[in-house]
Amino acid sequence: MTIHSSEILLDKKALQNNIRFLKNYLSSDVLLSSVVKGNAYGHGIEDFVPLAEECGVNHFSVYSADEAIKVEMVTSTTSTVMIMGYVDPSQLRWCIENMVEFFVFDFNRLYSTLEVAKELKKKAIIHIEVETGMNRTGFEREDLEEVARVLNENKEHLFFKGLCTHYAGAERIGNFDRFEQQKAIYLEVLDWFKNKNLIPEQRHTCCSAAAIRMPEMQMDMVRIGILQYGFWPSREVFIEYIKDFKTKDGPLERVISWKSRVMSLKNVSSGEYIGYGKTYLAQQPLKIALLPIGYAHGFTRGLSNVGRALVKGHRVPVVGMVNMNCIAINVTGIDDVQSGDEVILIGKQGDVEISVSAFGELSTQLNYELLTRLPHDIPRTIKK
Ligand SMILES: *Cc1c(COP(=O)(O)O)cnc(C)c1O
Repeated sequence: MTIHSSEILLDKKALQNNIRFLKNYLSSDVLLSSVVKGNAYGHGIEDFVPLAEECGVNHFSVYSADEAIKVEMVTSTTSTVMIMGYVDPSQLRWCIENMVEFFVFDFNRLYSTLEVAKELKKKAIIHIEVETGMNRTGFEREDLEEVARVLNENKEHLFFKGLCTHYAGAERIGNFDRFEQQKAIYLEVLDWFKNKNLIPEQRHTCCSAAAIRMPEMQMDMVRIGILQYGFWPSREVFIEYIKDFKTKDGPLERVISWKSRVMSLKNVSSGEYIGYGKTYLAQQPLKIALLPIGYAHGFTRGLSNVGRALVKGHRVPVVGMVNMNCIAINVTGIDDVQSGDEVILIGKQGDVEISVSAFGELSTQLNYELLTRLPHDIPRTIKK
């Protein structure tokens, strides 16, 4: 039996709370698509998806067909799966046969989808993604005439389910002009399609930050990742939310917690460096605890001398560089720390709490990055 050096827990009540909050927050006819790319932001697709279904979610968005296959294996047949990114041409057949929906953002995919759908005599359910300014994927303005022609002439093979786009950084107010422009372009394209008699069933543009910031753009569906897991896309979005609702507590609860244990303890004399190189110099005699997790387990090197952990109800700093399989934390002054003691890397211990973003005034992307790098092979334990 494998004994892992850390444990990951998922809290069902927290997820229930978050889904309830989101459903209340969204206008009543807006469909919530749960974004579970990146192994459900590290929560684990196999465990998270059935849990989300139990909380009333029945639409899942993934990045790739590979992820869609994983979701399909654990969802009930009534749930919808939508792929927002990579589909290898050889996987189109599987998607169409299984009524897995997918984004179409260039002619390669459009024409090959049409070909496979004809061959299978089964309709492909597609979401046309339009370029509105992010410059990632999406049809350009000058492509639309041809897209409309293909859609109009092949209605028996291609079901125009959605028209979508994605905002380039809705979590930052500094990008305000950019997403205002994207919004305007999207609405214009939507009208343009309508004039061609092409009316998508689902109009969708919003990720978490956009759904909070631009409620008027929630339209038929929102694609919510980070919020459902109980994290805010950025501090700005959080502040904007609590300001409007005149509360200082957020409505979200974190679903995940990540724990490890003290592997060993050591006393370090004043004037000694800790770990590789010279990044941390002990200014006084220190007691450090070594934990058997490192960047190989997703504890990013960016947290060297920056990360925090909880031990015995105290919030303590990481000292020195994050190693491949090991970190040191400063437990000086905490008397009764022993080998084997629980250490929280993400989550709560008593009254103290570590959110991923607590590490990362550095970068709001850290939430996303740290979560998605959590080891896939650690079994997730579900707390009901
Ligand atoms: C990741 C992603 C989302 C969800 O983003 P969050 O900020 O986690 O809500 C929505 N749409 C697309 C296209 C994405 O790639």
